[in-house]
This record gives sequence, structure tokens and C-alpha cells, in this order.
Amino acid sequence: MCYQVVKVYSVCKCVYREHAVDRCAAYGTPGHRPKRREVLVGDSCDLHSSRSGYSYK
Ligand SMILES: [Zn+2]
Ligand SMILES: [Zn+2]
Repeated sequence: MCYQVVKVYSVCKCVYREHAVDRCAAYGTPGHRPKRREVLVGDSCDLHSSRSGYSYK
């Protein structure tokens, strides 16, 4: 199984960074999708830190 590490802000859940896929032998096979591994980082992204915050949506 391939894995892709995705770093996500722990508070707002926005994606901080998507890393390259860690490939296995089956990479590229139709229907074979990398499994996302979410790693929490920091607090909130620039958009959701300080300022007025979660006023919209
Ligand atoms: Zn794989
Ligand atoms: Zn955010």
C-alpha cells in the first residue's frame, strides 16, 4: 500500500503540505490509490489564525 503524508493544521484542518507519495510495488495499478496519512501540525493556517477567525461559513 502506498502512503502519502499530508500535514494538516490541528485546529482548522486546512492542509499545510502534501508530501510525495511513498510508493509500493503496486503503484500505478488501476484503482490502486495511495492511503493518506494525516499528520497534525501547529494550530491554524494564516487564513484562520488571529484576525476575525471563523466568522464566515
Ligand atoms: Zn501501493
Ligand atoms: Zn485554515
